[in-house]
Amino acid sequence: MPLETDFDPDDEGLAHALRLLIDAKREPGTPHGDPVAPLDLPERWPDAGVGGSAALDVLAATALRRPTRLDHPGFFAHMDPPTPWMTWAATAWAAAMNQNLLHPDSAPAARLLERRVIEWLAPSFGMDGGHLVPGSTVANLTALWAARELTGARRVVASAVSHLSVAKAAAILGLEYVAVPVDERERMRVDALPDDLSDAIVVLTAGTTAAGAVDPLDAASTAAWRHVDAAWAGPLRLSSHAAVLDGIERADSVAVSAHKWFYQPKESALVLFADAERAHAAISIGGGYLVAPNVGLLGSHGAAALPLAATLLAWGRDGLRARIDADMALAERLAARIAAEPALELFAPPETGVVVWRVRGVDNAAVRDGVDGAWVSTTTVHDEVWLRSVAANPHADPDLVVDAVLAAR
Ligand SMILES: *Cc1c(COP(=O)(O)O)cnc(C)c1O
Repeated sequence: MPLETDFDPDDEGLAHALRLLIDAKREPGTPHGDPVAPLDLPERWPDAGVGGSAALDVLAATALRRPTRLDHPGFFAHMDPPTPWMTWAATAWAAAMNQNLLHPDSAPAARLLERRVIEWLAPSFGMDGGHLVPGSTVANLTALWAARELTGARRVVASAVSHLSVAKAAAILGLEYVAVPVDERERMRVDALPDDLSDAIVVLTAGTTAAGAVDPLDAASTAAWRHVDAAWAGPLRLSSHAAVLDGIERADSVAVSAHKWFYQPKESALVLFADAERAHAAISIGGGYLVAPNVGLLGSHGAAALPLAATLLAWGRDGLRARIDADMALAERLAARIAAEPALELFAPPETGVVVWRVRGVDNAAVRDGVDGAWVSTTTVHDEVWLRSVAANPHADPDLVVDAVLAAR
């Protein structure tokens, strides 16, 4: 067969691949995946190829049958959502066209599409633009880089429970990292902020990773720059619970992970700026072979905006709001059930869909390991281990999860 054939559509191969995907998704799977089965692949890369369809058949066992099923009713655990079907198709389209957003001439439409998606979303956060990055780790680093360039700030001030990517960004940028103590609900204690913030980038977290806490978003108005890390809870701004994020619109920059509560496949996140033109100019570097300057941290990168645009168009504002509201209702149902069980303790009413809870009087890490047919994560809050359930799975069943935890204690 001519060598170039594999670069053309293979109707049968693609139909077969799609069939494998649909069949695997229709099977219930488990909330734990299968961590112990050996990898069904030769140890040494074979000299002879087997062809595309056979390769996918081999990989199906690993890629489609073994994963932890984020859409299982017992999966009420991490910030990783199941993804809607139109993103699977859009991701395949993006792979097939393989546009490089670094180059306007080879990716004209993909660049416009990304800009349009940013135009749709940025105003909800009070921002006027930005760009897509592979995660909020990169979004936080990008925002802090722009902040350092534009303000000359020397310090990053964030709560003691801010995401590790904030300290990581400070280290990369050569900035001092100052941790501010938190209150009993894990919110930044504004009274403990340094008095002089004129040389500080203050990072406020909207939805901490451990407990879902929201820092007072109107704090630190005298800071040289205010960045809101809304990696998890940012999409709440588009829900009926938008008021939880009041004040975010006064930030200089915002990070939101689309692969969390916008239900996107990884890797997809937004870094947004109040003045994107100025921020982008501060983090742009030209190169002789580039028609347009390279903005931000990424070099070659693909069309993550395509699955996001498909989702936003498919659902509209109303559909997205309804889905986030429904996840919030699941978190509230879970919290209500926990509060009604004498053996269980609720850390606090969930504000951002993150439910922190535990079985009273036992080692909760061991409880988590013993849960069968469901999956919760663990988190450390005030030096104690708690269970954590994040409402990112529309299929999650709060009662199934509580019953499984009670059975495991
Ligand atoms: C998840 C998270 C991050 C990091 O985002 P990634 O998309 O995983 O890189 C940063 N901050 C907070 C609060 C998060 O929850």
